[in-house]
Amino acid sequence: MAKIPTGRLVGEMTRKEYITPHYIRVYLYSEDVPLFRETTIGDNNKIAVPPQGFNEVHFPTWDETTQQWIYPSPEVAPAIRTYTHRGIDLETKELIIDFVDHGDGGPASKWAREAEAGAKLGVMMRLDGRELYEQADWYLLAGDATAIPVLGAILETLPGTAKGVCIIEVHEGADEQILETKADIKFKWLHNKNPHLESDLADAVKAVQVPETKKFGYVAAEFSNVKEIRSYLRKEKGWKQEELYAYSYWKAGVAEDKSQADRQREKNTYE
Ligand SMILES: Cc1cc2nc3c(=O)[nH]c(=O)nc-3n(C[C@H](O)[C@H](O)[C@H](O)COP(=O)(O)OP(=O)(O)OC[C@H]3O[C@@H](n4cnc5c(N)ncnc54)[C@H](O)[C@@H]3O)c2cc1C
Repeated sequence: MAKIPTGRLVGEMTRKEYITPHYIRVYLYSEDVPLFRETTIGDNNKIAVPPQGFNEVHFPTWDETTQQWIYPSPEVAPAIRTYTHRGIDLETKELIIDFVDHGDGGPASKWAREAEAGAKLGVMMRLDGRELYEQADWYLLAGDATAIPVLGAILETLPGTAKGVCIIEVHEGADEQILETKADIKFKWLHNKNPHLESDLADAVKAVQVPETKKFGYVAAEFSNVKEIRSYLRKEKGWKQEELYAYSYWKAGVAEDKSQADRQREKNTYE
């Protein structure tokens, strides 16, 4: 298989804003931002978060043979997490990443909460663009707060002829966002202050009336929700593999880099 071209840079935070009470938008400046000019908004990236109190990024290297990161020494090694490419401004040479503020319990969320102008963050990402979703007449978009960047990017690119349903679970009413789209989408927002303990997302998906037409689903949320939704759509409702992209963006109680193998295995359940 041909190797995907990837690039990396060290971004310096120019500013951040709480776009809702639990969502932090971070702007990262680097002279190297034009490297990413061909990327697709909504694609995922890897961020390298320096250890607490250290403002330099020492990137690990990815070993293709073992499929593992080779880290620099522990005092300088960053935490690697997966996020979403939410925007690029070629004039100001800034990248945008939106962070769920889920507290101080993880290095990425903690970094976003505490970062001040000048804070450095490593960003690694593929350099070319890619299709995020299949063309269809009707869309089921479902996720929790971590999925807002990718679902937002999908919604922004759907044509005016598309129809569908978008169900998103956020902390509370004030965390609902206005997501722009030309498509005819019915939004349903769920509120949940404890997404690591329980969720109504799967039940909300099960309540959707799916029309008899060319359909596509994009689901991104916590592991057990994605598992339940995948099983419901693929096993009970007979959705075909090419009609659904579902991937768990995090797993309750486990750091993102430590749950990757489990999440990947779950993704392959019916493939
Ligand atoms: C393809 C992809 C794209 C993603 N895009 C984004 C994005 O754009 N924005 C974003 O905010 N997240 C995104 N995520 C999710 C993000 O990677 C995880 O939430 C990650 O665990 C955050 O890292 P951390 O260092 O803050 O916490 P970790 O060290 O990974 O985890 C620490 C603890 O916090 C818990 N935890 C992690 N996330 C949450 C949460 N959202 N709510 C409650 N508890 C949580 C974990 O279960 C664990 O117990 C994406 C994930 C993937 C796979």
